Amino acid sequence: MIGCSCEVCTSTDLRNYRRRSSLYVVTEHRHLIFDTPPDFRDQVLRFGVERVDAVFLTHPHADHIYGFDDVRRFSTMQEEHIPVYGSPRTIKQMRKKYDYVDRVSYGFESVPRVLFTGLTQSVYVDECKLTPLPVSHGADTIYGFLIEGDGKRMAYIPDCNGIPETTFQLLENLDAMILDGLRPKPHPTHFTIQECAEQLKLIKAKQSFITHITHNSEHSELQAQLGTAVTVPWDGLEVAL
Ligand SMILES: [Zn+2]
Ligand SMILES: [Zn+2]
Ligand SMILES: [Zn+2]
Repeated sequence: MIGCSCEVCTSTDLRNYRRRSSLYVVTEHRHLIFDTPPDFRDQVLRFGVERVDAVFLTHPHADHIYGFDDVRRFSTMQEEHIPVYGSPRTIKQMRKKYDYVDRVSYGFESVPRVLFTGLTQSVYVDECKLTPLPVSHGADTIYGFLIEGDGKRMAYIPDCNGIPETTFQLLENLDAMILDGLRPKPHPTHFTIQECAEQLKLIKAKQSFITHITHNSEHSELQAQLGTAVTVPWDGLEVAL
């Protein structure tokens, strides 16, 4: 947290240094990015992301999209337009905030070359099936994503304070579930840690993860509190399904 010197912000345990929430999924054939936060460039450099075949955006809040410009490095390296998916509202916002994207007057390397696509149902990226998961995030309905491929199912819902029944039904037989659990204190647009743990218990994925954690939680203390049922991840954590 900017301007904070609490025990978490000054910790020497790297697991207490938290960049913004995002996810990189590698299947047999495809490399998918979920959200491009302000520190997207730092994330991909630090954790060796060398290819991006598609980008999925959960919602247009600043902490999830303001690293988007650096997608241009991937369209340049791969010499192709990269598909970018989100809800129609998210894509509308992206076109507005990144109005220079794809402007032909700029050189190919100067701007991201992408294909913005508003999504209201499942889409396939090669053999991988992506399904939007509408959830409540305060007054807004935004997306998480169900990701199915290589015979595995996982879901990513980083910002959420309510899961409608129709979405909940899609969270069956998951190999992994990653869910918003912001902090101990109630928040108008995020699940608390307790609420997140309760939801994860109901969802019953093979592996459960909490995300979007603030500096209010020290890593090892939170892990001890949640026990073995929920993993408290850290930046760069890799999980094989
Ligand atoms: Zn702090
Ligand atoms: Zn948000
Ligand atoms: Zn967020």
